[in-house]
Amino acid sequence: MRPVAAPPVCRCCGSAAVRSRGSKRGTFITQDFAYLSCATCGYLFVDPFAGYEIYNDDYYRGRGPDPYVDYASEYTDYRATDRILEFEDLVRLASVYFSAAPRSDSPLRWLDFGCGAGGLLKFLSARKTLSVSGRARPVEVTGHDVGSYADLLRTRDGFRILNLDAIRDLPDHQFDVISLIEVIEHIEYPDPVIALAARLLRPGGLLLLTTGNNDCPVARRTGLANRYYLPEIHVGIFNPHCLRTIYKRHGLIPHHVRYSGVVKFKVIKSLVHPGRRRIARIALKFPPLVRLIDLAYGVSAMPCATKPLL
Ligand SMILES: [Zn+2]
Repeated sequence: MRPVAAPPVCRCCGSAAVRSRGSKRGTFITQDFAYLSCATCGYLFVDPFAGYEIYNDDYYRGRGPDPYVDYASEYTDYRATDRILEFEDLVRLASVYFSAAPRSDSPLRWLDFGCGAGGLLKFLSARKTLSVSGRARPVEVTGHDVGSYADLLRTRDGFRILNLDAIRDLPDHQFDVISLIEVIEHIEYPDPVIALAARLLRPGGLLLLTTGNNDCPVARRTGLANRYYLPEIHVGIFNPHCLRTIYKRHGLIPHHVRYSGVVKFKVIKSLVHPGRRRIARIALKFPPLVRLIDLAYGVSAMPCATKPLL
């Protein structure tokens, strides 16, 4: 007798109120992947989960499911990559947030969860400080990741890089900022990661999280044909409601931010042709265009979060 398959439940909130949104064939793993959406929290997730083995050195070279990945350039010289736009934007948002917070002279402890090739860690440690209320507050960085670049960052560059077990073993209230930049969509079960971030944030801390939006005008129009929907790696796509729900579940307060450089980087990254990238870099100096793209892709619509003061 064949075993009866368990009915699917939401991988984010556990609700059984899930329905099929169709399927899509992987381009790297050539099989059909089902897309299931949760009526309770709005999470859209891929079944089956393709596993984490896909994140190997070929993936880091852009030879995996995501051709836009380029860890080698970022590791070698993060200043020469367009990602600098994203880093500057994140630092700006943190500066604005902590400038409005109660004054503290202690170092600002920043964890970059899923630090990849370490561009943000290098950017922050080169700056040494963050401008908070016109004063320079020292920054201490920690990275989390696994794989060959995590090893290099630890051994060659001297960064404090922790794997997931080491992060889980940390006591509460370790960090003022935790960044999860284009990470959460890769994780099979996102809820424990947000729970961990909520536990590790200090009261008054800031969670900076960016990820795709399954409820933006572009995604609604394109459906599963959306090129962000890469079933082997983007295994769960959120929307603003879903993020607000998961934050509140773990005692965090949704925090609206208005991105600029993050939007610019997303656009430039998606253009493969160098000429198009050059044109985009010029066009994106025009703020109304950035705002228009932001609205179309729902980038700033996706909230970050803060941890309430005790
Ligand atoms: Zn759900």
